[in-house]
Amino acid sequence: GAVSVSGNLKQVKLERESELRIEVSDEPLRIRVVNGTAEIFGSELPPEIWRTFPPRLKFAVFTWYGATIEMDGVTETDYTADETPMVSYINVHAILDARRHFAKASTSSDPESSQGPRVIVVGPTDSGKSTLTRMLLSWAAKQGWKPTFVDLDIGQGSITVPGSIAATPIEMPLDPVEGLPLDMALVYYYGHITPSKNVELYKTLVNELAQVLERQFTGNPESRAAGMVINTMGWIEGTGYKLLLHAIDTFKASVVLVLGQEKLFSMLKDVLRSKSNVDVVKLHKSGGVVARDREVREKSRDSRIQEYFYGLSKELSPYANTSSFNDLQVFRIGGGPQAPKSALPIGSVPVSNPLRVTPVNIDDHLLHSVLAVSYAEEPDLIVSSNVSGFVYVTEVDMLRKKITYLAPSPGTLPSKFLVAGSLSWLESR
Ligand code: ATP
Repeated sequence: GAVSVSGNLKQVKLERESELRIEVSDEPLRIRVVNGTAEIFGSELPPEIWRTFPPRLKFAVFTWYGATIEMDGVTETDYTADETPMVSYINVHAILDARRHFAKASTSSDPESSQGPRVIVVGPTDSGKSTLTRMLLSWAAKQGWKPTFVDLDIGQGSITVPGSIAATPIEMPLDPVEGLPLDMALVYYYGHITPSKNVELYKTLVNELAQVLERQFTGNPESRAAGMVINTMGWIEGTGYKLLLHAIDTFKASVVLVLGQEKLFSMLKDVLRSKSNVDVVKLHKSGGVVARDREVREKSRDSRIQEYFYGLSKELSPYANTSSFNDLQVFRIGGGPQAPKSALPIGSVPVSNPLRVTPVNIDDHLLHSVLAVSYAEEPDLIVSSNVSGFVYVTEVDMLRKKITYLAPSPGTLPSKFLVAGSLSWLESR
């Protein structure tokens, strides 16, 4: 596109079906549309109004029919690209839309025909899965559907803190800057950022989440017809591949979108061949997707946790609460200390149960950890229960037997059962 610069202001003219790819620097960046229409990952930018984008954000402003964009600030990089896979993505959306209409119009009580598309987005890391998921949800919401967003990616977490799997209905196009509203979210806490820590637990939580959604769909034809869009992890080899198959199966996916990998596409096509009601579709990865190394991923995990407690630009203040050790019970799932061999019947081998819930002593080792607040009514139900939210342990006073933690809302916690994992965070002040 044509570019004109004056001071920190820069105008870029975008031709139809092209995008302006931006990496924000360490300073926030302001952007507005001065002419035409443009969207960020499926969510339209209102005309004329300046929006501020936080440091380090990477995104693209795309236009279907042409637009002029104005930027105020210094970027890390910004360039125009006219080769994008957006037409193929919107074509997928059009097919999904037709299926939603079909499901909505279905008069039979047959659960199959009144079920809208269940889309699962798969592919290696940095193939643009989260981005495509966002677009499909936003385009659907723009047309008045309320699709369910399911996030199985424990490594990054688009709905809530990393280490969780979650689902939430999407009623409006997703804001390019703000996080999702959490009040309707159904969240399960796995507690680690890689599924290999406890594969059985990961699968169990995926099963729980799917079952609850299935029940909700039964009583809600509107969300049933809108269907769901499921984002997955970038781990596609070995156990990761098996977990993808497990998710496809558990959520009864009807459309599998494979981003940017021929091998995964042909493997999935092969195994799903026998299922006539599953479409496996190959899509190109966008050249705009920014690869993230380990350090960047760690940083982005930390900022997700910070965002949960403090808001995107530290506009929220979490509540600090102090409880006595007796008022709370902390548990860990799986991997707890095993019974000593001497305590077992002669000849038996100690086996660890990945779903065993074991109490955890409250002491210094919980300092800086992120704990989930379980809805379970008793410890035995922790694995099968969703969580209301998270607390962050800021102080453990062994003398007074008191624990201090941050919570996003005031008052007593909805439950005294907390779940620990391996997720911790060092608050940077
Ligand atoms: P992971 O498997 O690690 O979760 P992913 O496959 O979900 O990764 P995304 O999160 O969608 O990948 O994309 C990686 C990064 O690239 C994100 O910061 C995203 O905003 C950015 N990005 C995606 N598409 C574009 C684009 N067209 N232009 C600029 N940036 C983009």
